[in-house]
Amino acid sequence: MPHGFERIVAHPHRPEHAPDRPGDTIVVSIRLDGWHDVSVRVLHPFTWDAKFRGFRIDELAVTPARPRTLVSGAYSVADAAVLNFDDAGGTRTPFDFPEGDRHDGVLYRTVGHSPEPRERYQDAAGWCTVAATDADGRSVALATALDRSDAVLLDLLADDHGLTVQARLPWQSFRPAELPATDALPGLLVRHGHGDHESAEAWLRELLAATVPSRASTAPPPLIADTWGFGTDIDADRVTAFFDVAADLGVEVVTVDKGWEDHVGDWNAQAGYAGGVAGIAALAHDRGMRLGLWVGAGNAAPDSAVAAAHPDWLATWNGRHQMVSHRNHSLCLGHVPARDHVLACLDRLVRDGVDWLLHDFETISRCDSEHHTHDPGAVEAAGVTGWYHVLATLRERHANLLIENCWNGGKPLDLQMIAHHDTTIGDDWCRSEENRLAALGLGVYLPSSWTSKYMGDEPHLPLRAQLAPYLVGGPWIFMGDLPGWSTSQLADMRQGIAIYREWRTAALDARAMPPVLSGAAAGVWGSAAGVTGLALTPRPDGAQLATFAVSEAGVGQVVRWHPVLAPQVDAWIVRDEWSGSEQRATRAELEAGILLDTSSADGLALSVRPA
Ligand SMILES: [Zn+2]
Repeated sequence: MPHGFERIVAHPHRPEHAPDRPGDTIVVSIRLDGWHDVSVRVLHPFTWDAKFRGFRIDELAVTPARPRTLVSGAYSVADAAVLNFDDAGGTRTPFDFPEGDRHDGVLYRTVGHSPEPRERYQDAAGWCTVAATDADGRSVALATALDRSDAVLLDLLADDHGLTVQARLPWQSFRPAELPATDALPGLLVRHGHGDHESAEAWLRELLAATVPSRASTAPPPLIADTWGFGTDIDADRVTAFFDVAADLGVEVVTVDKGWEDHVGDWNAQAGYAGGVAGIAALAHDRGMRLGLWVGAGNAAPDSAVAAAHPDWLATWNGRHQMVSHRNHSLCLGHVPARDHVLACLDRLVRDGVDWLLHDFETISRCDSEHHTHDPGAVEAAGVTGWYHVLATLRERHANLLIENCWNGGKPLDLQMIAHHDTTIGDDWCRSEENRLAALGLGVYLPSSWTSKYMGDEPHLPLRAQLAPYLVGGPWIFMGDLPGWSTSQLADMRQGIAIYREWRTAALDARAMPPVLSGAAAGVWGSAAGVTGLALTPRPDGAQLATFAVSEAGVGQVVRWHPVLAPQVDAWIVRDEWSGSEQRATRAELEAGILLDTSSADGLALSVRPA
């Protein structure tokens, strides 16, 4: 097992329960005797169910009176809301999907509210760190990571004598007639030892870097343009005009977002695209770009050919077909014929010239159909296995295909989802500040090359301020009205692109981090006095980039950036990446901090390197 981690799967068991009341299945249990003063750091992925706190990390106390349970999986906020609702009221509420004509399906929550820090059940990525004090008074830490994408509950149960960590599958979404083999159950990778949260985060970083597909370490994150700035209002003419501007800007991958397809589920281009998907691919390839294509691979529109021909392939949950993103149904990828249809469609798209597959919506459905090839009680476990099969087969057949995880906002996040994708998105709002915060949250765990940033048009922001977070890490994905950009905007974009290209890296140990700032505290991660920032960890030679957005509140404020200084280097060069001007600085001067130009609300990009 890599980097000191051990994979633990206990012999699964279900504690006694009445025949008409299924119980949870405990799959992992660890005891840490003597651990006390326990806290857990929880990474909340972005989801439209909790849209104002994507990729935030909370540090929460775990006490005998306040056990904590981290809820991971595709529907984690909705599931945690149900469990908190039950925790408060003592009922047994099934997991379900909302209904109604006005429901567009991107929200899954049926009861309760998105978890608050005081509550037991917290939506979470499939990993966490725990810090505590042991019986001898030493600092100890634990890192855990799940290797499946099913809904899993990770309990942290403190008592007067220690800490129990257990993983269980909730009765709502896992109640098979017979327990499957342990290799089809979630396992927990664990490492513990002396240290604190930061030590455990470093352990996780090593594990996750070893998990990303090897392709990710061979090429830096690309520059991408995506048509979502137009929503689904696209056609062949608009796509062609968009490709022209993208090619002129030096974009490397151009992705056609939702709206190219005739029906979700069938995956044929609309009639107006000459030559179908192969024709769209030729438009991109002829301009020197790779083609990306959006799909909701696990979905089927009610009026699609596949839903009409095979209504029995749709996922059924609590007696009905679920209505999910953009009012589409889900196909059950746990049902072999439906899974094979999805695989055949995606394989055809790749053979038609798709180089970058961007998948969205719901590929892990909940299904309790009695008529499918899976155990109706296996629910998500079958769908998860089916989805892994589709992704792994595509990879096997198409060595150069890149796969982006946009799962309705970037969920779920666990070792298997990392292993099956080349990048994941950080923010579905397509906004600058949300992307900065997502880069900081994900940057604690993942390489800087692995967190896609969607950039919509935000004309209310000074352009360089908007661009600041996008210059750090990648992939950087333009989603605006490129053909409508002014000449001056295009000129600034070209400069921004040059900065991004200069600094992007495939190094798996490079990551986004908050720059150290001095100035009046601002209360937002990586910020001070109206200035927000994002930095890259230093290169091996000590060179490093930091970008800043000065808001109106930051104008005239005194804010200094304190770079990470390599030992034994006394002479440095400070470069303004936008203007190209350089200045020499001594170590002492950099230790005192580089005074940021806050004369106007704008964006800054500064670097330092040994002279
Ligand atoms: Zn099914």
